[in-house]
Amino acid sequence: MAERIQMKVPLVEMDGDEMTRVIWQYVKEILLTPYIDLKTVYYDLGLKKRDETDDQITVEAAEATKRYGVAVKCATITPNAQRVEEYNLKRMWKSPNGTIRAILDGTVFRTPIIVKNIKPFAKTWEKPITIARHAYGDVYKGVEIKIETKGKAEIVFTGEDGVVSKEVIHDFAGPGIVMAMHNLDESIESFTRACFNYALDQKQDLWFATKDTISKKYDHNFKDIFHDIFEREYHQKFSEAGIKYFYTLIDDAVARVVRSSGGFIWACKNYDGDVMSDMVATAFGSLAMMTSVLVSPGGCYEFEAAHGTVTRHYYQYLKGEETSTNPVATLFAWTGALKKRGELDGTRSLVRFAGELEQAAVSAIEGGTLTKDLALLAEGEKKIVNTREFLEEVNARLGQGSW
Ligand code: NAP
Ligand code: MG
Repeated sequence: MAERIQMKVPLVEMDGDEMTRVIWQYVKEILLTPYIDLKTVYYDLGLKKRDETDDQITVEAAEATKRYGVAVKCATITPNAQRVEEYNLKRMWKSPNGTIRAILDGTVFRTPIIVKNIKPFAKTWEKPITIARHAYGDVYKGVEIKIETKGKAEIVFTGEDGVVSKEVIHDFAGPGIVMAMHNLDESIESFTRACFNYALDQKQDLWFATKDTISKKYDHNFKDIFHDIFEREYHQKFSEAGIKYFYTLIDDAVARVVRSSGGFIWACKNYDGDVMSDMVATAFGSLAMMTSVLVSPGGCYEFEAAHGTVTRHYYQYLKGEETSTNPVATLFAWTGALKKRGELDGTRSLVRFAGELEQAAVSAIEGGTLTKDLALLAEGEKKIVNTREFLEEVNARLGQGSW
């Protein structure tokens, strides 16, 4: 066998929980360490360790990502009341992804992994559609009042200088509801730049849509910020890269997305991104085939699978039962991170290896070797295997040392 690939700078490795923690080890053992002299700075974000460290480990992992620039993260449990009991936790710790996102101030891009034998529900989709969701404000920070009696609802802004702006929302003749929501130019600008940068990185068009015809101030502000930043900072770069920025109304965007052949990035406001990412993921096939990357405005990258820790399978695994959990999104989190590390460090063998590993995984599925979740979706010949057997099949399809 050829010599193992040497890494110049380590990856930040964030370990996680349950079934994905098991898969994490399999991926490293079967597909990574035999080929790469894997250098990582390891943080255990497993729930036990988070509890022991009062969740400082999560903060440290995010800080390390800022220093090193590239991280790979395993799925982690976000505790709820049941988990507090199950793990005898000191507190109901916050979502690690939320903590990391707050520190890196990043935008999440989700992309499906496409294979020939799983047909998307939208017949025209040939290439992946990446969803970028703005992760701040709007209805998620909305303030609401339930109106019970007759009366007038108003929206009031009192400036620091004492100047007041006021609008009547509605004169209520009877019961109803009111909501006020907000966003911040700074947050929208950061999202805008993350989207334009990622489009350049991926050499794909960027689409953005709002309802600016109806929301002439709120949504229009989003449209204007995208437009201004594009004209000032990205027009030239996009022309040079041969890609486009395309703005349209959200309802028109939805119709166009369904009829498109894919291969672009769709930037969405917070709520649109919440709804549309589930629509796109489902229409492409499976959550187990969805990758996710958090990109910070400072140019840091954190790669992960879009799915969770697959708890149901983990309990089967603990009972000694065989599990056929799909490791593809976890594997692609690793290949994404290794590729990015290789690009940043000029380690071409690492970039090539990561690319071939992805090809080998796709070829295993297209060759009909499948985990159970895909067996229902895939067309043609099928051989259902467990998680380890799948990874062994990927290994068998990986060339030997041509990177
Ligand atoms: P989940 O782990 O994504 O699993 C939901 C169901 O989807 C599974 O039971 C399984 O269906 C199917 N599935 C997901 N990934 C799969 C894979 N790789 N291979 C095969 N099937 C897969 O979501 P959840 O059950 O709602 O959440 C479990 C835990 O994960 C929770 O504690 C939650 O906090 C955490 N979570 C973490 C993240 C993250 O770290 N990014 C994201 C979401 C959830 P079947 O049972 O039908 O086989
Ligand atoms: Mg959602």
